[in-house]
Amino acid sequence: MSAPRIGVSGVVRQWDGNERTGVNAAYVRSVLAAGGVPVILSPVLGPSFAARAMDGLDGLLLTGGEDIHPALYGAELSPRCYPPSRERDLFELALFAVARQRELPILGICRGIQLVNVAMGGTLYQDLPTERPSDIAHDPGSARDARTHAVRLAAGSRAAQALGATELRVNSFHHQAVDRLAPGLVATGWSEDGVIEAAEGPAEATWLLTVQWHPEEMHAE
Ligand code: MN
Repeated sequence: MSAPRIGVSGVVRQWDGNERTGVNAAYVRSVLAAGGVPVILSPVLGPSFAARAMDGLDGLLLTGGEDIHPALYGAELSPRCYPPSRERDLFELALFAVARQRELPILGICRGIQLVNVAMGGTLYQDLPTERPSDIAHDPGSARDARTHAVRLAAGSRAAQALGATELRVNSFHHQAVDRLAPGLVATGWSEDGVIEAAEGPAEATWLLTVQWHPEEMHAE
């Protein structure tokens, strides 16, 4: 089989005084290292071009970034929610819908677990430190590849199979997390304070795995 083409959801950012679009290179390098051909999907395309942009793709990687607008899960915008991007929210919801309809494998990272949970009907904590205080710092400001807290994975889960372990330490830079898990998702990873760190589709369904940490920053390992 030729190398699978993997759509990687991108961002729009101000950089050197210009509006630019792209994605953290670590995602692109990780897909390459895993034998895939990464294809960056810019939110500038908009939801109406999501299906066309995904023609010929074999999988979807939903990446980290902005907080999702709480209106998408029926909540008021908290002052502690970081500024959301409507452009990105709507584009990624469209990408997810297309990938599901085409039964493509989907990996969600950080914002990706949150996006998938919201798309499937779940809710989020808008700010963990104030809404769900714990002894574990989920956004300690450490190096991108510093493993700062433990995660336990359910034996036999996709996450455990993919990583070949049920106990690991992960990097962590998120201030939001899954609150109410969507119907259709199964929680398969938790930090020691009980925050959901991995969620996936049921075993019989198309491959769908989402994690709250950032494996792309550790692909060299
Ligand atoms: Mn964490």
